[in-house]
Amino acid sequence: MTDTDRCPHCDTDLTGSPIPVEHRDSHYGGSTHYSRTVGIEVRGVYDGVLFWTCPDCGLAWHRWQPGSHIRDRAEPYVQQWNDDPPKHRHETPQADEPAAPRVTPPDPRHEEKP
Ligand SMILES: [Zn+2]
Repeated sequence: MTDTDRCPHCDTDLTGSPIPVEHRDSHYGGSTHYSRTVGIEVRGVYDGVLFWTCPDCGLAWHRWQPGSHIRDRAEPYVQQWNDDPPKHRHETPQADEPAAPRVTPPDPRHEEKP
């Protein structure tokens, strides 16, 4: 669970699908929705989620509050991640090529028998 439901980089809404009511208290501490936030673990640094990343823009931000020693350890990893983030999921090809000429299919009616 995160303390934000919006990406601090691209401001996308990170609220996921609703959690089934019967699972909310037992598994999710009363949360009503899943989070789309992606937690990143770095083995050997912290046994658990070290920082969060966005599924849309791919950038990372801190899970831990300033002053936390875990944040200090996470800092270089967050920096490194944002220096070279994974390929954006929503990257789309540029539409700078001219549109292909419209092709009209041959008229099928000439095959009709009288
Ligand atoms: Zn984002």
